[in-house]
Amino acid sequence: MNNQKSRQTRLLHSNYRLPSEFSGLTVPTYRASTVLFKSAKAMRARDWLSKEAYTYGLHGTPTTFKLESLLSEIENAKHCILAPSGLAAIALVNFAFLRAGDDVLIPENIYGPNREMGDWLQEDFGITSRFYSPTIGAGIAGLIKPNTRLIWTEAPGSVTMEVPDIPAITKVAREKGVIVVLDNTWSAGLAFDGFAHGVDVVLQALTKYQAGSSDLLMGAVLAQSDEMYSRLSLAHKRLGFGVGADDVYFILRNLPSLRLRFDKHGQSALEVAAWLKGRPEIGHVLHPAFEDCPGHDIFRRDFTGSGGLFSVLFDAKYSEEQVDRFVEALELFGIGFSWGGAHSLCVPFRVTGTREDWKYMGNQLVRFFIGLEEAADLIADIEQALSALDWQSSSP
Ligand SMILES: *Cc1c(COP(=O)(O)O)cnc(C)c1O
Repeated sequence: MNNQKSRQTRLLHSNYRLPSEFSGLTVPTYRASTVLFKSAKAMRARDWLSKEAYTYGLHGTPTTFKLESLLSEIENAKHCILAPSGLAAIALVNFAFLRAGDDVLIPENIYGPNREMGDWLQEDFGITSRFYSPTIGAGIAGLIKPNTRLIWTEAPGSVTMEVPDIPAITKVAREKGVIVVLDNTWSAGLAFDGFAHGVDVVLQALTKYQAGSSDLLMGAVLAQSDEMYSRLSLAHKRLGFGVGADDVYFILRNLPSLRLRFDKHGQSALEVAAWLKGRPEIGHVLHPAFEDCPGHDIFRRDFTGSGGLFSVLFDAKYSEEQVDRFVEALELFGIGFSWGGAHSLCVPFRVTGTREDWKYMGNQLVRFFIGLEEAADLIADIEQALSALDWQSSSP
C-alpha cells in the first residue's frame, strides 16, 4: 500500500515501527512542539495541567518531566516548573502571585535583576515594591501592610552574602497570610532546605550548579501547595515559558555529580577564603561560614554546608582602580557574571543604593567563584595578583 505513495511522502509516513523494548540509563531528549494524540476524543479530553499525559511541547515532555521530578527530590518539593532562565523563573513568580494594587517586599541585597524587576513592577504595573534590610528577621512584621502579598528572600544574598533569618520571616508571614519566596541558588538546594524552614516557593537558577558547565540558561520554581502550583502553571502557560529539550538533557547529564561538585567547590572555597582572611590587603571575608559575615550565627543554625561563592572587601585604603588591576592580574579566574560551572570566576562589584544597613560603602568588593581547579593553584594565582595592587600606586 505504502509503495503507491510517492517517495517524498514515504519519507514522512513510513510503515516502519520501532521495536518496543529499549532500555538505557538516560532519559532520551524528546524534542517536540507537537504532541500526537491517539484520537480526536483523546485530544479533547486532555488536561494540559495534568502531568499524567502530554499535550504540547510547552507544557512538558518526558525529558522535562524527568528533570522536574529530580529537582523536586533535591528540594523536598511536591511540584516543579521549569523556565527559560533564572530570571524568567523570577518573572514567573511575580506574574503568578502579584496584581495591580499589591505590595511586595524585596531584600536590599537580592540578585540585581530581581531588584530591577521590583522597580519595574512599581513603575509600570501598579504594584508597590519596598526594599528591606536582609538582616531584618522578625522585624519584617513592621513592614507588612494589608495589601502585602509577597516577600522575596535570598539565602544568602549572592553578592554581599548576608544570611537572612528565614524561619523568623516565614513565621510572621504565615500569621499574616503573605507568601514567602526563597531564591535558593547559592546552596543549589543542597545546603539549605527552604521548605523545612517555612518558605512557600523555592526558586533555582539552574544556570549555576545544576547546569554546571557555564553553557546554558534555565530556572526552576518549586512549590508544595497545589493551589500555588496551579497559579504558577497558569502563569507559565500564559507567558509561554517553555524550555529547550537539549538544554534539559545537558542538565540531566550533569545532575548526578551535583553533590560531588558542590562539595568540592565548597571545600576549595573555604581554603581560599581562609587564606584571604590572613592577608593584610583584605578587610573582611564575606563568606557565611566566617564570623565577619552578617548572619553567620543563622548560617550555623540553618545550613548544612556551603558552595563555591563568596566575596571579600579590600582594606579601605585600596581604590577601585587598584582592585580592578588585581582582578585583571588574575590568570586562573575569568572576569564574568554567573557561576556554578567548572571554571573559577571573579567580579568586582559596586555596592549601590541607599543601604543604611551596609557598613562597608568605602571598601572595594570582589566576588569570587571557586571552580574545580586545585585550591593551591588558585591561592598562588591570587597571591601573585595581589602584588598588582601596589603597581605605580595612585597617590593617597
Ligand atoms: C544567576 C542568578 C539568577 C538568574 O539566573 P539566570 O539564569 O542567569 O537568569 C537568579 N538568582 C540568583 C541568586 C542568581 O545567582
